[in-house]
Amino acid sequence: MKSDGIPTITEKKFIDELYKEGNIYAPYGLYERKAHGYKVFKIPLNASFTCPNWDGRLSKEGCIFCPNFARQFTYESFRRVLNEDLGEQVKDQVKYYREKGAGKKGFVYIAFGTNTYLPLDKLKKIFDTALKHRDVIGLSIGTRPDCLPDEVLDLLGEYVKKGKEIWLEIGQQSVHFHTDERTRRRHGVAESIRVVREAHKRGIYVLFFLIMGLPYETPSEVVETARVVSALGVDAVKLYPCLVMKGTGLQKEYREGTYRPLSSTEYAALIADFLEHLSPHVLIQRMSKDCGLDGKVAPHWDTHRWIVGPRVEKIMMLRGTKQGSKFSLGLEAGELKPLD
Ligand code: SF4
Repeated sequence: MKSDGIPTITEKKFIDELYKEGNIYAPYGLYERKAHGYKVFKIPLNASFTCPNWDGRLSKEGCIFCPNFARQFTYESFRRVLNEDLGEQVKDQVKYYREKGAGKKGFVYIAFGTNTYLPLDKLKKIFDTALKHRDVIGLSIGTRPDCLPDEVLDLLGEYVKKGKEIWLEIGQQSVHFHTDERTRRRHGVAESIRVVREAHKRGIYVLFFLIMGLPYETPSEVVETARVVSALGVDAVKLYPCLVMKGTGLQKEYREGTYRPLSSTEYAALIADFLEHLSPHVLIQRMSKDCGLDGKVAPHWDTHRWIVGPRVEKIMMLRGTKQGSKFSLGLEAGELKPLD
C-alpha cells in the first residue's frame, strides 16, 4: 500500500499486512499482536478520578451524554475492583484476564472520569503503581484533551523512554465545534490538535473516542470528522453509537422529542461511511457498545460488537469498499493539470 503521508506513529508495515491478510479495516487488537508478537489485553483499573466537567472546575453539569463520570459506560470488571488498593487491582485483574485466555501481557487501562486530572505527584504514584507488574507493558489513559499540560506529557514521555507503550485515549467525540458546544464538552478541537502533536513528539500514541449520532450532527459532518482525524495523525479510534442514558441531559431531550437516536441500519451505514473516508492507517479499536449498558434508555437495538461488526462489514462488502477507499485530502501531484 502506498504511504498516505499521515503522521501516525504506529508501524504502517504491520497495518499493511492486515489488509494483505484480507481485513477490510485495521483492527487494533490484531495490530498489537503483530507489533508485540503475542496477544495483549487491557487491564481495567479504577483509580477514582473525577472530572473537571462535573466537579465545578469547568461545570457541574457534565457532558450531555455522560452518566456519572462515565462510570455506567465501563466494564463490569471495573466495578468488581472498586476501592481496592491499586497494586492489588492490577494483580487481581492480570490474573483474571490471563485465566480467561485474554493474552500474555497487557496495558493497564485507566478509564473512569478524566484520568490525568490530579496533581503531578499523585499521577506519578498511580502510573508507577500501574506499571510495576511484570506483565504490564504500558498504559492506556482515558482523558480529556484539555487536561494534558506539558508536565503530564513529559511524565508519560519518561515511561516511553523506559520502554513502556503509552496510549492517550482522548474523549474528542466530534471535531465540530457546534457539536462540542451542544454536548457541553467545554473544549474544542484546538486542544486535541496540540495533544496529538505534543504526544507524538514524546513517542506517545493517541486514540480518539468518537460518538456517532450526536445531536444536530449530520452524516457529512461525521465523514469530515474521519478526514480531520486522519489529517491529524491520530493513531486509533474508538467509535460508539450515541446512547441515551438515564439521568443525562440527553434523556431530557429524548423525552421532549428534540433528539432521535440513529437506527441500527443508520448507525452501521454511518460507520461504513466513516471507515471509507478514514486513512487506512488509523487503527480501529471499537465500533460498538457492549458494556456498561445498565441505564440505557435508547436506542432499543442491540449495540453489541457481534451484531454491529458483521453488519458494517456486510455493508462494505456489498459496496465493494474498505477502510480508506474514499480517503482523500486533496489532489495528487499528477492531478495538478488545469483542464481546458
Ligand atoms: S469529560 Fe468524560 S467523564 Fe467528564 S463529563 Fe464528559 S464524558 Fe463524563
